[in-house]
Amino acid sequence: MASVNLTMENTALALVKAAGGFMCGFGRRRKLAILIYHRVLSEPDFMRPDEVDVYTFAWQMEILARYFNVLPLAEALDRLRRGDLPLRAACITFDDGYADNATVALPILKQWKLPATFFIATGFLDGGRMWNDTVLESVRKLDGECLDLSRIGLGVHAIGTPEEKSRTGYRLLSRLKHLPPSQRAEYVDHIASRVNGLPDDLMMSSVQVKELHAHGMEIGGHTMSHPILANLSEDEARREIGEGKDKLEAIVKDRIRFFAYPNGKPGKDYKPEQVGMVRDLGFHAAVSTTWGVACNRSDIWQLPRFTPWDRSPLPFMARLVTNYIKPIT
Ligand SMILES: [Zn+2]
Repeated sequence: MASVNLTMENTALALVKAAGGFMCGFGRRRKLAILIYHRVLSEPDFMRPDEVDVYTFAWQMEILARYFNVLPLAEALDRLRRGDLPLRAACITFDDGYADNATVALPILKQWKLPATFFIATGFLDGGRMWNDTVLESVRKLDGECLDLSRIGLGVHAIGTPEEKSRTGYRLLSRLKHLPPSQRAEYVDHIASRVNGLPDDLMMSSVQVKELHAHGMEIGGHTMSHPILANLSEDEARREIGEGKDKLEAIVKDRIRFFAYPNGKPGKDYKPEQVGMVRDLGFHAAVSTTWGVACNRSDIWQLPRFTPWDRSPLPFMARLVTNYIKPIT
């Protein structure tokens, strides 16, 4: 595995020492960076240019292991409350339950002895596929120069090159994301009907969930079908959150303590009532996708996270460090 090179290491160390000594705060003011990942690709994929691949993930984990204090989420939150977080405290989280979390990310996490939390939408375990992957995988398989979706009001899109396919895929995802689920499913089925042989192994099996748990990783709730909770009735939302938790507890035979709101933007993707629901259903804390770092004044039912998107080590590290410095939102 490639190692972080020496020049970079010296610069990185200076950066981290400066941040650690002066800017990350002391005692009760210390902050917790909770990183969010989705997939870790076994090789770069033109359809998913924003997802990390195994090479990038490996050096990112090396940086975290060498220069940051990565803690299990439960310990980090205890220490956040008590005001004794170490400097440069961080947690690693994965959302959704992709199989590559077990096959690609787990060996690297184990190599660096890094704990992580995996928030899993149970409805896709054992052969399921999320609607966004159905769209991307369908567009990948399409032949020809353009995809004509004018019949369903989604326009005509260029798919002649890998870059065009990728752009079309992401454009369709943003058009479809906040539609009512039944209408979205109809459009997604229409797109998928144009190709054959979509993959059914993108998400974890129950056995892989057990494997992550057996390696000391935390398993967290992420509903069953990954809905926009804000659009559901109270009963539907409670069922999505509660049954997802029950199913995971049955798989790992342990308590599920943490929850991640699907899509995760407060007000848009979930409402205050659902924050109360998560608390009532026996979770200990929950994470959102609000951008930021947590401090001891943060709401433990809506902890902020962020994704470091840089694809080279120094900017990645600089972004991690500057996130501790930014004012808390
Ligand atoms: Zn998710």
